[in-house]
Amino acid sequence: MNKPLAPAVTDPNRIPYQKPQPRDMRPDMVIHDAMALAPNSDPRVWVPLAEHVAVRPLQFNVTQGQYTNVMRVTKAGMIARHRHSGGVHAWVFKGRWLYLEHDWVAEEGSYIFEPPGETHTLVVPEGCTEMITLFQVTGSLMYVDPQGVSTGYDDVFTRLDKARAHYTAVGLGESYVDRFIR
Ligand code: FE
Repeated sequence: MNKPLAPAVTDPNRIPYQKPQPRDMRPDMVIHDAMALAPNSDPRVWVPLAEHVAVRPLQFNVTQGQYTNVMRVTKAGMIARHRHSGGVHAWVFKGRWLYLEHDWVAEEGSYIFEPPGETHTLVVPEGCTEMITLFQVTGSLMYVDPQGVSTGYDDVFTRLDKARAHYTAVGLGESYVDRFIR
């Protein structure tokens, strides 16, 4: 059966772009269940980083050394002390968190910019049992002790490896993570 013809577009504001997209453009990406916390969401998309800490990847940008994910923490406590080589944009969806180095508290609805070069210690304060925040991270997180001595690092590639290993282990398959790569 033939598809019915689309009605003629008369409103010029509703005419789609008529030319080809750039030849080397990467595919667009839509993740409808970005939060992945609805009753019918697949909990396996959450990649555990530590006990009570998980991330839901949205994009691994391997050409800009950047990743975007939703972080969920379900217990109060210290998450990580780290130094950033690149900037971070964050938006808090639920709960609250703070950096020991600052006097402000990020709360539901807060936007935060973390400048390249900063070292800080992420803490979910007592009384908060669920923190959910979108992070877009450029560059690396170097994990450090209080004197700045490096104890390890993460970047888009280590996070990608962790996600791939998790998705393989939970049965989503090694290639599941590929859809998030640009
Ligand atoms: Fe940070």
